[in-house]
Amino acid sequence: MTINEKSRAYGAQKSTIREISAYANQRKAEIGADKVFDFSLGNPSVPAPDAVKASIEHSLTLPPMQLHGYTPASGLPEVREALAQSLNRRFSTSYSAGDLYLTCGAAASLSITFNAVVNPGDEVIVIAPYFPEYRVWIESAGATCVEVMADPKSFMLDIEAITAALNERTKAIVINSPNNPVGAVYSRENLEQLAAALTEAEQRFGTTIYLVSDEPYREIAFGVEVPWVPSIYDRTIVCYSYSKSLSLPGERIGWVLVPDTNPEHDVLVQAVAGAGRALGFVCAPALFQRVLMDCVDEPCNVEAYERNRKTLTEGLSKLGYEFVEPQGAFYLWVRALEPDAEAFFERARAHELLPVPSDSFGCPGWVRVGYCVSHETIVNSMDAWEALAQEYQAS
Ligand code: PLP
Repeated sequence: MTINEKSRAYGAQKSTIREISAYANQRKAEIGADKVFDFSLGNPSVPAPDAVKASIEHSLTLPPMQLHGYTPASGLPEVREALAQSLNRRFSTSYSAGDLYLTCGAAASLSITFNAVVNPGDEVIVIAPYFPEYRVWIESAGATCVEVMADPKSFMLDIEAITAALNERTKAIVINSPNNPVGAVYSRENLEQLAAALTEAEQRFGTTIYLVSDEPYREIAFGVEVPWVPSIYDRTIVCYSYSKSLSLPGERIGWVLVPDTNPEHDVLVQAVAGAGRALGFVCAPALFQRVLMDCVDEPCNVEAYERNRKTLTEGLSKLGYEFVEPQGAFYLWVRALEPDAEAFFERARAHELLPVPSDSFGCPGWVRVGYCVSHETIVNSMDAWEALAQEYQAS
């Protein structure tokens, strides 16, 4: 073999989300942007706060060696300390700089975390429907990705199904709340049940099971509590990014938190640093590390998403579509009007409606409608949703 076939396969398999987004751009060029309803990507439609621009402008006055230089691998200590103090204010914790490792976004946080904890033969549980990249990061870290369906009605964690999947090879479980793609926010009770199931399994198998909490949408919640997971389960590792909360997805900035309450804290901190090193990350972007320092308590503007959610859910509900009422993130999980989500997508596409079929999230029969778009796009898409529903009623 002249190349790494596994890597080639990841490169050759197209991401459905990105393919639809590329098609949307092509279609916009052909017929006009206002006639294409692109609900594919999770690119925030809310601009980054003014404080981000002010921070960048301030950084530009720094001496170039300081501005553009390498930072320590885990990030500038003063930035990590400021972030730790901010978490302490919000969650009554006692974290410090040494618990945080700054990364190039949640993607890096997750791939570093999987590489930090798994060994060949280990299993990592994901809750379907799930963010498709989880599988790539878990498998490339050498573990097996085990899918467990969420509760089919509420899309909360199905504790019985998770318990059935836990075994002596389970090294970790990844949860994502507020959730992409269904918009669910796991309740405290649901998380406590998960913690009990994991603790029971650890005792039964004599093993250690980590809970990887992927939280890029933590701040995007609509009037519901988003519980702080490390206060519910000790062996939690939190993966965060500012892609959504500060609308900075292209800048690649986030962190891994190994809480001081995690029983394996010291070795995990080393393993996270080692995985970041082995994966060649070197350090997170220095300019945006400084932005975090200046924007540490900057609120996330969720009003636009809330307004979009209201318009979209009211509109689709009137047209008879079935969906999961979203409590957070900026995605609506809509039941396809036929069992085959790909076939439904093709018929939606003919009306210039571009959601993402659910098969790519490991779950048949639904589509994900990303409502991180302009309000106008949602309003203007309603005729197309209506025409699509009527077409099904007529057939
Ligand atoms: N996890 C989930 C659930 C996501 O939706 C995303 C991005 O959309 C990521 C991780 C990756 O985020 P980032 O852009 O910060 O790498």
